[in-house]
Amino acid sequence: LLVGDKGIPGLTLRLKGEFQSVEFNGDSVRAGAGVFLPTLVKLCADQGLGGVEPLVGIPGTVGGALAMNAGTRDLEIGSVIKTVEVLNAEGNLELLDSARLSFQYRLSSLSGKVVCFATLQLRRGMKDDIIRSIQSFLEWRLEKQPVGMLNVGSIFKNPEGDFAARLIESAGLKGLRVGAAQVSPKHANFIVNLGGAKAQDVKDLILEVQKKVKEKHGVDLEPEVKMVGL
Ligand SMILES: Cc1cc2nc3c(=O)[nH]c(=O)nc-3n(C[C@H](O)[C@H](O)[C@H](O)COP(=O)(O)OP(=O)(O)OC[C@H]3O[C@@H](n4cnc5c(N)ncnc54)[C@H](O)[C@@H]3O)c2cc1C
Repeated sequence: LLVGDKGIPGLTLRLKGEFQSVEFNGDSVRAGAGVFLPTLVKLCADQGLGGVEPLVGIPGTVGGALAMNAGTRDLEIGSVIKTVEVLNAEGNLELLDSARLSFQYRLSSLSGKVVCFATLQLRRGMKDDIIRSIQSFLEWRLEKQPVGMLNVGSIFKNPEGDFAARLIESAGLKGLRVGAAQVSPKHANFIVNLGGAKAQDVKDLILEVQKKVKEKHGVDLEPEVKMVGL
């Protein structure tokens, strides 16, 4: 989420308390929408439950991940969802099973709803194997992405059959800057904040990258990052 420099004209909710609860039941887990995804993956591993390790490096909440169908090439959260509890217009919790949900690449029928809890289907395994798998996903991120620098994650969706990073890099845009916002020299589909970048700088850089990639490759890059107040 890229939030405009003046904030947003609306209410922002931070889900805490019961919304950060985690309950295991056999091979599944019911988690509050406010649970931090990397924490959930590690709590599952402690119980000898895997199947969600690729999500460990995604720095968001369960609710945000469901609204975005967050994931990696190895797993999207939508594929392990059994049920989701959302707040309905009457202020009650409504249980939706997976048959009533649809998930596509960074797209979810839950976007616009208020997700309160979700139950995920896990796989029982050896704790040591699950922890090793978690470590390898984290190491992969450390090697490929600008971990440790301020950023909002992948900027563009990968177009069908190609990679946004490849298109941006081959258009010669690595290192391009607007103010203190820079196309990461490490991974071209990330924009890093070198210190003091404004959200508007990031947005302007996104527009510049879209324009140049269109000129060079004839491809329209679609933002993966959601922008509000901009
Ligand atoms: C370093 C970095 C790496 C990232 N890597 C990945 C990655 O590998 N894969 C990936 O998919 N994403 C990635 N992201 C993007 C982001 O972390 C995910 O999209 C994450 O799921 C967003 O969760 P959030 O809680 O931060 O939601 P926010 O960014 O705060 O919100 C995202 C959207 O979800 C909605 N939302 C939030 N909570 C709820 C709720 N309870 N109910 C309904 N809607 C809600 C918001 O209104 C908003 O529209 C990365 C981001 C960063 C900064």
